[in-house]
Amino acid sequence: MPRSLHPSSVVPRGLLIDHVEIGTGMTITARPAAALAQCPGCDQPSSRIHGCYTRTLSDLPVASRPVVIDVRVRRFRCIGSDCRTQIFAERLGPDLAAAFSRCTTRLNYIVHHLGLALGGRPAASFARRLMVPASRDTMLRTVRRRAVRPVEHPRVIGIDDYFCRGQRYGTLVCDLERRRVIALLPDRESGTVEAWLAAHPEITVVAHDRGGCYGEATTRALPYVLQVADRLRLMENVSAAFLDAGRKSMAAIRFAAGVATVDPERLTCSERLQYYGYLQGRRRARRSSPCRDRACRSRKLPERTSTVASSCATCCAV
Ligand SMILES: [Zn+2]
Repeated sequence: MPRSLHPSSVVPRGLLIDHVEIGTGMTITARPAAALAQCPGCDQPSSRIHGCYTRTLSDLPVASRPVVIDVRVRRFRCIGSDCRTQIFAERLGPDLAAAFSRCTTRLNYIVHHLGLALGGRPAASFARRLMVPASRDTMLRTVRRRAVRPVEHPRVIGIDDYFCRGQRYGTLVCDLERRRVIALLPDRESGTVEAWLAAHPEITVVAHDRGGCYGEATTRALPYVLQVADRLRLMENVSAAFLDAGRKSMAAIRFAAGVATVDPERLTCSERLQYYGYLQGRRRARRSSPCRDRACRSRKLPERTSTVASSCATCCAV
């Protein structure tokens, strides 16, 4: 037996439809079904209406038509005597639309999965074919918002800076125990980091680079926490110290290994470049350094590019 489709079955639950206008798209005027609203300050229900405004929400398409729901949201007066909130707007509920969101929860769910599966630009292109109103920026913003879930009581964190879209620096905060990003701060100023740290007194260990900004902010906000250098800086320092020591002792190492000459053909490209740079530096130093033998008047040592040890052409002193 055929049954007609009622407009109320199209909109999310919790809304009552007042008017439907169909053109190139579908515009639905609706209002919340609940008679009362709960104050966000004291959780007391109130029925004293102060006013209303229209909140526009994008929804899933119907019959290849984009759908927009104009919801008449009411403002209520709080009836609590000791509540600081005097007037508040009713919330539509997490199943209908999140606070401050401009689309319904079910549309946001689809946008999130499209963004995860395809990425920003391909997902936006595919969404256009599905009549889903979402740009590539919306795709990425939705994925990021859902990826950064709030972490309660981080204890061990890492702080470092990041470069945003080639324009400015920001600060990234990671929970090192859960291996998750927990905050993206808009800049890398000491005051911004200090304010964020001061709001999290449960932190006990902070890993950061050896620059002064993050260390100072941590010392001012949380003077009792343990500050450590992050692993990347330690590995960089160890690597640089090892290369420096090897460079300075290369002659002794070759002598101990019994290799007096270096064959450039047996080196890799990068090693060969380093080797030619090393020879060039030696040549430059030799031109400016006289013979070590004070009795010898020679001011220039011969150029012997393939040997490690070099001697004076006049007195043969090494
Ligand atoms: Zn209240």
